[in-house]
Amino acid sequence: MAESKVRKAAAPKAKSAVKAKPAVKPRKPESHLAMVRRARKINRELAELYPYAHPELDFDNPFELLVATVLSAQTTDLRVNQTTPALFAKYPMPEDMAAAVPEELEEIIRPTGFFRAKAKSLIGLSIALRDDFGGEVPGRLADLVTLPGVGRKTANVVLGNAFGVPGITVDTHFGRLARRFGWTAEEDPEKVEAAVAEIFPKSEWTMLSHRVVFHGRRICHSRKPACGACPIAPLCPSYGEGETDPEKAKKLLKYEMGGQPGQRLRPPADFPGEAAARADADAHQGQVADLAVAR
Ligand code: SF4
Repeated sequence: MAESKVRKAAAPKAKSAVKAKPAVKPRKPESHLAMVRRARKINRELAELYPYAHPELDFDNPFELLVATVLSAQTTDLRVNQTTPALFAKYPMPEDMAAAVPEELEEIIRPTGFFRAKAKSLIGLSIALRDDFGGEVPGRLADLVTLPGVGRKTANVVLGNAFGVPGITVDTHFGRLARRFGWTAEEDPEKVEAAVAEIFPKSEWTMLSHRVVFHGRRICHSRKPACGACPIAPLCPSYGEGETDPEKAKKLLKYEMGGQPGQRLRPPADFPGEAAARADADAHQGQVADLAVAR
């Protein structure tokens, strides 16, 4: 994808100074029921904040999503989206990728990093799709995780977004936020997935995953969460882990729909188109500030 096609980052549109109130921390240990209620409220708030939450990898079919998800390890979705058009032009089907010359495939995916290991996985999984699954990506977790380079996280991304099967995707953002929200203390992604699955109905799993990841990428960052500008602050026991000064926190916000890492370059038909997405992003930036003021 040409760099020129990448939209410029929209400037934050805060209309008034953000005056975030400190979160109310529970005085006594929270019961499980109270935690579940608070968790579901966080999900509802995130749904309002990120109505356009969606998978940020470009894909047109399950095979493309599977390949893009394997490539997304240790790199940004934007980098993957810039790499996959050439890749899928040359290897559109599993049979094509299964027969790839490794060095040629490596050269195309080199910008995504770890390109030798990723090329090995892509060729391996393509061979397995060709030989064991009739050239189709299987729609079952048990089958997907047998493919080279495909773990539960990748399998859940594919199931949730290409097959409509509910799945919780525990990547680095999701795990970090689930712990900060007090949903679990587990570090192991599979244990985090199991704990979160107990809190939310299945029908919410896929969109919950997108919303939490959106929040992690935009506001609740790994090293410097923007607590002072976070609309979830009143519901978050980790308020104060990051910057609480509203003005300083506002400067930490990242809106990746503007062309920064994580932007989906080709929004699918069932998500807002480019113009709508831009309008949503602009409106959203004002909304974050307004919600923070309201609290
Ligand atoms: S930014 Fe701060 S208040 Fe908001 S969810 Fe993250 S840790 Fe909690």
